[in-house]
Amino acid sequence: MSEAVAGTDAFRRWTVGDIRITRILELPPMAFDPADFLQTTREEVLRRRAWLVPDYATEAGDIILHFQAFIIEAGGKRIMVDPCIGNGKPRVPAALDMLDTPFLQRLESAGFPRESIDFVLCTHLHVDHCGWNTMLVDGRWVPTFPNARYFFARGEFEHARVDGSDPNARAIFEDSVQPIVDAGLADLIEPDHPIVEGVRLEATPGHTPGHCSVVISSGGQQAILTGDVIHHPIQTSMPDVSSNFCWDGEIGRATRRAMLERVAAARAIMIPPHFAGPTGVYLTPDGEAWRVEEA
Ligand SMILES: [Zn+2]
Repeated sequence: MSEAVAGTDAFRRWTVGDIRITRILELPPMAFDPADFLQTTREEVLRRRAWLVPDYATEAGDIILHFQAFIIEAGGKRIMVDPCIGNGKPRVPAALDMLDTPFLQRLESAGFPRESIDFVLCTHLHVDHCGWNTMLVDGRWVPTFPNARYFFARGEFEHARVDGSDPNARAIFEDSVQPIVDAGLADLIEPDHPIVEGVRLEATPGHTPGHCSVVISSGGQQAILTGDVIHHPIQTSMPDVSSNFCWDGEIGRATRRAMLERVAAARAIMIPPHFAGPTGVYLTPDGEAWRVEEA
């Protein structure tokens, strides 16, 4: 079940048994030419106009994407998942460069002051999934969540660290990951590392080598925070369409197909970080694949 909170679409909340999941938007919904993100076209988007417009696509066939983080409340703990892009960070592309958003104020008004976060999980270490790990204080990048343990999947951490040949990847590691290690708040974990009852990680490689998704189970219900296994609802209809930013498209396709099949079979709520509109969806069979409906 989901609800819009406080009369704004910035917050939205899902309940899975005893576990609550809240989303916080960092940026307003943004429209892009699908080809900028995905191996597909406006024509393919518009063929699915009936269920993609207006939440997930425009009348012109542009895709609408969110940049958002999630807070899981489970077992008396608060887990921040995929803390977005962050403020004041020099970034490529320009739309993500030197942001100045009220993300932390939104977090606080939703009832989650940054000091109250117990764990931070990044599904992977791309620019839009680990930025708020740190914030700038007196010219230094310091942990935004000073009382949290930050869990990094070891494979993802090692990949991001050796990716230093790419100046953009190096900048992300240096301002959003290394300060967490230097502050002694980082735990390098394997995907089977226990988090809290009802919340576990699952290895979902392809978009990046060490990519993980977060599986939530409680009271006979299930939800999955997919990370970038999937970027846009059109990929439920065309599971073989990958993003332009995948480490290994072939592995990513197999991972995405397996996840979609499982989500559909379990009637789980799928909550991908870039899905706009209601964000949390069920899958409904449609031809040889699926389409989405609001959870
Ligand atoms: Zn992303």
